[in-house]
Amino acid sequence: MAARVLDGKRIRDEIKAELVGKVRALKAAGITPGLAAVLVGTNPASEVYVRNKVKTSAALGLFSEKIDLPASTSTLELLDLVDRLNHREEIDGILIQLPLPPQVDQSLVLNAVDPAKDVDGLHPINVGRLVSGDYGLVPCTPAGVIEILKRSGIPIRGARAVVIGRSDIVGKPVALLLMHEHATVTVCHSKTRDLAAVAREGEILIAAMGRPAFVAGEFIRTGATVIDVGINRLTTEEEVRRVFHDPTGPLRLLAEKGQVLAGDVQPEDVKKRAGAYTPVPGGVGPLTIAMLMANTVSAAGARRGRPAPKSSDEC
Ligand code: NAD
Repeated sequence: MAARVLDGKRIRDEIKAELVGKVRALKAAGITPGLAAVLVGTNPASEVYVRNKVKTSAALGLFSEKIDLPASTSTLELLDLVDRLNHREEIDGILIQLPLPPQVDQSLVLNAVDPAKDVDGLHPINVGRLVSGDYGLVPCTPAGVIEILKRSGIPIRGARAVVIGRSDIVGKPVALLLMHEHATVTVCHSKTRDLAAVAREGEILIAAMGRPAFVAGEFIRTGATVIDVGINRLTTEEEVRRVFHDPTGPLRLLAEKGQVLAGDVQPEDVKKRAGAYTPVPGGVGPLTIAMLMANTVSAAGARRGRPAPKSSDEC
């Protein structure tokens, strides 16, 4: 039977439609959720991400502000800005677009964000809350992964889940969220021995390693749900030929656009082995901004005594 495609765009639109209702209810109570997006320097990918975040905020009826700073900005200047944003009543979410330039002490800046406005879920207070299971603001991409699984009716409770990747932004938080959803979770990384055999144990397999098409058929348990978080930009014909068994379409795309996106999972193998999978593009990617909006809306309510915390019922 053909593997089911888990359509991230459809789920993103569903979440956005729900958020419109929530924003309307907050506005009726005199609250307009506000997001400040801080971009330091002129990284083209970061510029696109921030522009899309601000555009989506406006479409959902949020107040949003884009703050552009030169690449030469110092840690102190950023700390000063964060302090001002922390004190502004109309700002509910502060987003510091990563990566920051090398002269900036990234963790000092991220740790200075008011945890109640930390819509990226990276402040140690929010990380600690995620570990404990009493969480509110969680990192957006991992939250999106859970939304895809739940809204696609994939059972998580009791399932064997394998996460490949242990970064603070994706791997670790997604593993914690799956654990809180009662999956039995294994986390793999670059030092894992016999990775393919461990990955094959996963009824749910999450690939978040940043290695194009690394997860080949032998990593995938027959019928598994495969969530591909990887976003890799292929810019040469050689890379495209290495990733795609039939490179005709992707090579045409490369000629037209100068790049082709590929996930961490081999795109043809996953169709043959998995029961369900997220494509790249169009899978996890679309959820990230939607979850940032969801975090901003929930921060706006929580800061004014309307909390909607998620809490696990672990035992
Ligand atoms: P990272 O580089 O911080 O972490 C990669 C992880 O993969 C590390 O923990 C490392 O141990 C593991 N890894 C690397 N090579 C491995 C190997 N050969 N075998 C086993 N494990 C290996 O990356 P990240 O920030 O977690 O991002 C991972 C991927 O997800 C990237 O492709 C990134 O672009 C993508 N991403 C997508 C979104 C989205 O919105 N969809 C958001 C964030 C990241």
